[in-house]
Amino acid sequence: MRTRTFRPWPSFILFTLTLTLVCSGLVGCTTNAATGKSQFNMMSREDEIKLGEEAKPQLIDQYGGRIDDAYMQAYVTEVGMRMVPFIEGDYGELPWEFIVLDSDVINAFALPGGKVFITRGLLVELEDEAMLAGVLGHEIGHVTAEHADKQVSNQMIFSGILIGASVAAGFSDDDLVQVGVPLLVGVGGQGFLLKFGRGDELQADSLGMRYMSRAGYDPAAQRDVMVVLKEASGGGSGSAGSGGRPPEFLSTHPYPETRIDRINKALEKDYPPSVRASLARDRPAYQQNVIGRLPDEEQ
Ligand SMILES: [Zn+2]
Repeated sequence: MRTRTFRPWPSFILFTLTLTLVCSGLVGCTTNAATGKSQFNMMSREDEIKLGEEAKPQLIDQYGGRIDDAYMQAYVTEVGMRMVPFIEGDYGELPWEFIVLDSDVINAFALPGGKVFITRGLLVELEDEAMLAGVLGHEIGHVTAEHADKQVSNQMIFSGILIGASVAAGFSDDDLVQVGVPLLVGVGGQGFLLKFGRGDELQADSLGMRYMSRAGYDPAAQRDVMVVLKEASGGGSGSAGSGGRPPEFLSTHPYPETRIDRINKALEKDYPPSVRASLARDRPAYQQNVIGRLPDEEQ
């Protein structure tokens, strides 16, 4: 078995180098159907799906396994799948999965190829179905904007794993499994590629609001998710806090103030009250299908 020493490049260097490569005639420059922007990406849809499938069981293991409640799992899947028909391009054809992890950690994340995860710890913090759609929609946005794919491609090229002819040919299965999976999963589920920069987070918020509103959910719930999580981290008034340690979702999805501000601006501009009036929050369904099914001490 081959082993490789791998050291990630600082993201600002990658960003600069990527900019110089994007649309300079190099293979792998495509227009993303969700964002409408050109991007440099060596991964085919098959690569994305394979990478997601390979990394999925490792992340599930590291987050305490799947939740032992098929009914709640089916409900979360239903809410996620409700947004899939509204995804751009061919992303809707990915093998989407929305997996509830049996972990107290407050987190949600996604893998390339349409694998979305949310922990029981984060579900407890949410109050209605629209907020759940907000979290899942945000994660769908990371997948459709191909944020992780972009970083895996960059890291493999600039660390010399893909060079010359292999750039033109794309990844080998061996590269994907031996290099891509550890990049995404890391140790203790803390793969650094699951931590995105400010621009990627704002873009995922924006895409999430688009998907949830198209599926009939009030996008104001996206802001409420951020507010609730900020309070759970001890950053809000009257909060119970969590020992001053921010929820993992906030440390892997940073910049709550910036994001709340941007979400508010998007609500004003793109989702005025007249538009939102017909969109749902659906608190009773969420309370019944999620909160009411959790152990009493968590409710
Ligand atoms: Zn995110």
